[in-house]
Amino acid sequence: MNAGSGSFYRLLPEEVDERVRLLGLPAYRARQLLEGAYRQLAGSWEEVTTLPLDLRRRLDAELPLRPPAEVRTASTPEADTVKALLRFADGTLVETVLMRYPPREGRGHPRATVCVSTQAGCAMGCVFCATGQMGFERNLRAEEIVAQVLHFARWLRPLGQHVTNVVFMGMGEPLANYAETLRAVRILTHPRAFGLAQRAVTISTVGVLSGIEKLAGEGLQVGLAISLHAPNDALRRQLVPTAAPGSVERLIAAARRYRERTGRRVTAEYVLIEGVNDSLGDAEELAHLLRGTDIHVNLIPLNPTAAGYRRPAPSRVSAFARALRRMGINCTVRREKGTEISAACGQLRTDAARSAVIPEPVATLPSTQR
Ligand code: SF4
Repeated sequence: MNAGSGSFYRLLPEEVDERVRLLGLPAYRARQLLEGAYRQLAGSWEEVTTLPLDLRRRLDAELPLRPPAEVRTASTPEADTVKALLRFADGTLVETVLMRYPPREGRGHPRATVCVSTQAGCAMGCVFCATGQMGFERNLRAEEIVAQVLHFARWLRPLGQHVTNVVFMGMGEPLANYAETLRAVRILTHPRAFGLAQRAVTISTVGVLSGIEKLAGEGLQVGLAISLHAPNDALRRQLVPTAAPGSVERLIAAARRYRERTGRRVTAEYVLIEGVNDSLGDAEELAHLLRGTDIHVNLIPLNPTAAGYRRPAPSRVSAFARALRRMGINCTVRREKGTEISAACGQLRTDAARSAVIPEPVATLPSTQR
């Protein structure tokens, strides 16, 4: 019987059980397949030697693993931020970023967060974002999102480290690709698949309100981040031209409902841009807007892009944060990671396109680290 073809990474464990049944295989093969893909991190079934050779060949043809090709990487000297430009089978290019952090207070395990893309390009058009300037190409499929995480899981393995968190903050608007994003979340957090804790996953949205409502009702414990970037509608619509009128208030209301229904505290992302949204008056207006919520503000000094916007001076960033805290708003300033490697989303791909020819796979890391 033909079980049909497609990527294995698309399947939830229950669907793997079903495929195994359709292939006429004993039920325990499902566990072997899931372990081969998500524990062993095999790049092809050929590597999973617990399976008979003829089955490995059949699976490679009918249910392949298909990891994307690494076209280019950029890394900080300490390899605490590594960015990969990945190419899928149809030639689509996306960026995925790994951010590594030491153990908290010197205890426990080092943490490793993978920032995945959910679309090639993006239709939201945020004026300060390299991806936004590229326009929309296509939605990624769930298996392509899962494969990005596995790419860095393989990268970390020689260091004895694991992916501890996944954030949906790369190229694209995750909630505009809702079904595929959710399927990827369910595979990444399924104990029989990648097995990440739901609380270790964060979805970031620029404001698909219906998507936030739907996500709140999924019975998941994933974190939500809303990309606010401005304390009022007029400024927000300058920065996020596709935002609907009234989006600021409606986003805050949707975040409050998400908090009520899931118990998870919501984060508001605020990209600080010099002379645009970084004044003390903006901080005051933002504090007023968020008063009475427990939304946590994450201030992100802009990674400069070609659009000509600039990052505020560190003293101005600190003053903004201090002003928010004085007015009772919890906030953190995102640690600068990867500015020197074009770590803002879309930049590596834009840089590659600018150099006209996409180079063949390059490993920029010392070989001892791979
Ligand atoms: S910031 Fe995010 S939502 Fe806005 S254009 Fe860039 S990728 Fe899209």
